[in-house]
Amino acid sequence: MKLAHSTWLEAKDYFARRDLVVLPVGSLENHGSHLALGTDGIIPSYLVDLMAEKLDVAFAPTMPFGVADHHLSFPGTVSIGLDGLYMVMKKVVDDFYHHGARKFVFLNGHGGNDPALNRIGLEMAPQGALCAILDWWVIAGDLNPAWRGGHGAGEETAAMMAIDPALVKMDFFCDYTPQDLSDQLTYDRGSNVLCNGISVNVPRDVVQYAPPGWFGSDHPTTANAIWGQEMLEATAQFCIDFIEKFQKVQWHGEIS
Ligand SMILES: [Zn+2]
Repeated sequence: MKLAHSTWLEAKDYFARRDLVVLPVGSLENHGSHLALGTDGIIPSYLVDLMAEKLDVAFAPTMPFGVADHHLSFPGTVSIGLDGLYMVMKKVVDDFYHHGARKFVFLNGHGGNDPALNRIGLEMAPQGALCAILDWWVIAGDLNPAWRGGHGAGEETAAMMAIDPALVKMDFFCDYTPQDLSDQLTYDRGSNVLCNGISVNVPRDVVQYAPPGWFGSDHPTTANAIWGQEMLEATAQFCIDFIEKFQKVQWHGEIS
């Protein structure tokens, strides 16, 4: 049941029967010159569409903004920051808690959102409410290592090709060679550099190591809609399985 499409009477009936809410969380940010800025919200929203008819569960509307300060050099990116996302989502969770919800599933589309969601989960647990964070792209990569990917790279491009090919603009795609930090600290992955074979994170704006905005070993040109559709259906099925098990957990918050 999508709460945005339901009346308060239907919501009242739902919370009398069940205590779980799914909260999709996205981001409006650079995804390379070929992918839509809304990719991180569009994918969780599509997963909701795949799940909604199979689950008697309440789905909140997708949060379109997240933590994207490392993409701010790219036009169109908006970041509400770590504190902003924490405050917004904590209030959303608190209001659903007020209506009787005690289990919250963040269906997350963007890694930068994780610290804020994790903080909310830790704060809710002693109050008798549990949060779970489903990072869809991590689940997809664990379901099938061939699906594992970077940012705006093959994994996300394939997903978007399956959802809406009009949002994948390969005519604008830019290839590039990742930038090393120095002669001795060479590019590894994401914002990480290699030192003596060991990977070290050096946080900085994405443009400084990946000028077109995408990165990952799963090259965007390897993506196709069949990969995307299989991956999204398998990921949605995993999320359904998890939510059905999570719903049955008895949790009171006491530390034993
Ligand atoms: Zn993304």
